[in-house]
Amino acid sequence: MEEFREWGHRLVDWVADYLQNAGERPVLHSVRPNDIVNALPARGPEQGEPMERIWADFEKIVLPGVTHWNHPNFLAYFANTSAPPAILAEFVAAALNANGILWKTSPAVTELEVVTLRWLLDWLGLPAEWFGMILDTASTSTLHALAAARVHVAPETRDAGAPPNLVVYCSDQAHSSVEKGAMALGFGRRQVRLIASDEAFRMRADALQETIRRDRAAGLLPCCVVATVGTTSTTSVDPVRAIAEVAEREGLWLHVDAAYAGSAAVAPELRWLLDGCERADSLVFNPHKWLMVPVDCSVLYSRHPETLQRAFSLVPPILNTTDGGLNMMDYGVPLGRRFRSLKLWFVLRYYGREGLAQVIREQVAMTAELRDRIAADSRFEICAPCNLSVVCFRLRGTNEANSRLLEAVNRGGRFFLSQTVLGGRVVLRIAVGNMWTKRETLDAVWGEIERLARTAFPE
Ligand SMILES: *Cc1c(COP(=O)(O)O)cnc(C)c1O
Repeated sequence: MEEFREWGHRLVDWVADYLQNAGERPVLHSVRPNDIVNALPARGPEQGEPMERIWADFEKIVLPGVTHWNHPNFLAYFANTSAPPAILAEFVAAALNANGILWKTSPAVTELEVVTLRWLLDWLGLPAEWFGMILDTASTSTLHALAAARVHVAPETRDAGAPPNLVVYCSDQAHSSVEKGAMALGFGRRQVRLIASDEAFRMRADALQETIRRDRAAGLLPCCVVATVGTTSTTSVDPVRAIAEVAEREGLWLHVDAAYAGSAAVAPELRWLLDGCERADSLVFNPHKWLMVPVDCSVLYSRHPETLQRAFSLVPPILNTTDGGLNMMDYGVPLGRRFRSLKLWFVLRYYGREGLAQVIREQVAMTAELRDRIAADSRFEICAPCNLSVVCFRLRGTNEANSRLLEAVNRGGRFFLSQTVLGGRVVLRIAVGNMWTKRETLDAVWGEIERLARTAFPE
């Protein structure tokens, strides 16, 4: 244990320095494909090695291959944060190695999950009686929701298999995880309808209604509609209330994908984001996206735990229990479950609702300021409404010019941005989500973009 103690102190210091000085490193990795594979031995060591040598290789070979997500200049995809209290909780969770298969295999794993997810329902203004469970990712959560929706509409699925004519609906802006979940569950991609969105990239409820009507006329069985609150490309928000009306009228399961934007509802002035979501059958949001909790931590809520149970519960004799505790294995695919609620609990308590709201509020405000600066430059145009922490913009010019501009920014090494495609046009995307990103960071990235646009693409 002496060695553990010594290395523990050393690595805590390393992590503290890493976090304090993250901004001084290049945000992007500096390797080519297979560099790391080729730098490490093809076969594992026969005999154990000293920590000193393992750590030296970590610094020399592994670290250059890390893209620094916990870096203030990470502005790609949905930037996020691993907050210090969560890092400590992960360390403790690894030490305990508690596995929440059943309530009794570690009651604290299950009960801390119940408590934290109830707190979050309250903070987000969602119905207090909803059932919640932590899964790894939104993709997995949505897959679970689709499986529940199927059992809801076709209860025979559990024993007889699914009917072949079930249909899933989402907008043409929905995350690929909806189609992927439908593929994995055997709906077939052809039975996923990508409903047209409007000029602000929101699902058109009238088009949804019309498509369902046509599918019914063709003898198909509409099953589930997935509405998105905060789409991945532009953070647009589907009209959940109008979609809920259609879903209720037609007897469809309504799943809401709020993977990114759901967290923002901890700020009262952003609660409108979840307007109508109280009528959903299930909802996913990722504390690992915008609530300062490290990957992985996705929350799936549902008003119908009994339907999840019908879809997933199967108890082998070895796991029979009579203690009356809540057994999370009855509600989903995973049997073993790590102690993810510990890091969530640490973060919720350390910052409090208001502390988290304040971080999100600041990020939304500084993103709006950046949008205004971009909009004021006639060489650029804003490509989508921006009311959260992502701004989509492009150089007025060809797709190729925009791709080259993005590449030039990222090649510089200081910042990492990503792109999307809207209506066939390549669009640059700046996503603010790391809690150490400041106004100066955004001033600097805009300075860089503006300079590159001036020198590489003179008018
Ligand atoms: C990021 C994202 C997902 C996927 O999240 P994972 O947790 O990585 O599976 C799903 N939906 C939306 C809207 C997202 O932004």
